[in-house]
Amino acid sequence: MKLVTVIGNRPQFVKAAAVSRVLREHHEELLVNTGQHYDDELSTIFVTELGIPRPEKELRLGNGSNTAQTARMLAQLEPILVESRPDAVLVYGDTNSTLAGALAAAQAGIPIAHVEAGMRSFDRRMPEELNRVLTDHMSQLLLCSSQTAVDNLGREQAIGERVLVGDVMVDVAYMFQPRAAADDVPLREAAVEPGEYVLVTAHRAGNVDDPVRLKALVDLLLALPLPVVLPLHPRTGARLDAAGLLDTLQAAPHIRLTPPLGYLAFTALLMRARAMLTDSGGVQKEAYLAGVPCITLRDTTEWVETVTNGWNVLVDLDKDAAIAALERIMPAERPELYGDGHAAARVVAALDLVAAAAVPAP
Ligand code: UDP
Repeated sequence: MKLVTVIGNRPQFVKAAAVSRVLREHHEELLVNTGQHYDDELSTIFVTELGIPRPEKELRLGNGSNTAQTARMLAQLEPILVESRPDAVLVYGDTNSTLAGALAAAQAGIPIAHVEAGMRSFDRRMPEELNRVLTDHMSQLLLCSSQTAVDNLGREQAIGERVLVGDVMVDVAYMFQPRAAADDVPLREAAVEPGEYVLVTAHRAGNVDDPVRLKALVDLLLALPLPVVLPLHPRTGARLDAAGLLDTLQAAPHIRLTPPLGYLAFTALLMRARAMLTDSGGVQKEAYLAGVPCITLRDTTEWVETVTNGWNVLVDLDKDAAIAALERIMPAERPELYGDGHAAARVVAALDLVAAAAVPAP
């Protein structure tokens, strides 16, 4: 079987790290990096660190609004699909690269497999939610991380085949957590002690693009009663700078700003944090897997099971709620919610079924 896989941003590099390795044992893969994240810190480092195959096509389509970026991706993906004529196109998650990969494939009559299908925040103001819903309803193979995702797709009557494979980020977490747990360097570099700091990531458009919300985020960080390690996503760095708030954070003695970290350094810091504060989807899940209490800087989440199991709490940008959440008692139980770390093998097995059923494009 021949696949074209479209990736473009940080979490998609992590997901490809799980799947590409297994996929290439038996199948041919052409990996296309749209370059949605063109900073090395958000892309190349994952190729070297996580052993992802070097993408065969690099498109460098990083700039512009969501619409403009998606349009440019579509235009560049079409000839690649025409030339390579894959049996299926594989896309991950909920980014512009996901939507563009899926739509280009649909237009070319090529079956689409969507990894992380069926996730919903039910907040259509999020560009990610639009990308998820549209991609799911174009896909022939809906590869779900959780039963909730399977059920969401059932309710929406998505026509693709739904398969519960578990979550491919769990595969990567289980693969790299033992190494990260033994690595003290990132803690030393941030000058923090195990269990005595919080790790923070924030970069959702809804939190950093609106100056009022950005100010609320900064106020929340300034109010935290523990050392804060904050690897700054370039989008957040640029918005803070433009709003004149970067200096405020830099001047706060309890806040350690770092550039975006590699997966291993980030996981090392996550595993020994008192708590994780984040607006990222993937990081909520990784905190759960690491047994670290999560405080989510949003009022919705796709990873609802982390909340219902008591390991995650949604505080939006309410600083008092965030501080209160730091004090909460954690549950004794942490059931396996997103699979057993072998999701990639199930993804590849399910892809074989699509290839077998494929109708050649006209
Ligand atoms: N991550 C990383 N370095 C960092 C911050 C995050 O390697 O400095 C990893 C994190 O472990 C997770 C992924 O990047 O695997 C999440 O990416 P992001 O937050 O950009 O994506 P989202 O989940 O919000 O779509």
